[in-house]
Amino acid sequence: MASYARSMLSDIYSNLSANLTRRAMQPAEPALSAEDIEKYRRLLLHLRVSISAEVARLERDNLNNGHAARPVGHTDSASALHDDSWIESVSRRTIATKRVLLRDIDAALDRMARQVFGLCVNGGHPISRERLEEVPWAKYCESCAAMDQA
Ligand SMILES: [Zn+2]
Repeated sequence: MASYARSMLSDIYSNLSANLTRRAMQPAEPALSAEDIEKYRRLLLHLRVSISAEVARLERDNLNNGHAARPVGHTDSASALHDDSWIESVSRRTIATKRVLLRDIDAALDRMARQVFGLCVNGGHPISRERLEEVPWAKYCESCAAMDQA
């Protein structure tokens, strides 16, 4: 049992060090081409439009809910009241999250204008394409992002 655990651990460590070596031996990633940047620019602009529209819609919904007059003397059940405020608070949080995302997208577009898109804001490390495909507005490289979240 103990030796099984030890061999598991040693497998994990050898995989880890193989990965680290592979990463260290990788040639420097070629800088993003103009076409790459254009692709991300379009993607970011598209996201910006659709997220802005979504925020506007959510805000309108919230406003409408807030203004929906309840009949005087109407006795809402406690749970219905609770549901309303729960939905409102969820949608507020959603709006806040999307606003942060919009700021991140704007910041990424700004980095593009300053020709530093795809470079980590914490020291200029190149951000991998893999990461940019997933998070085109990423401002940190993988290692800095991991440190930031730690
Ligand atoms: Zn970094």
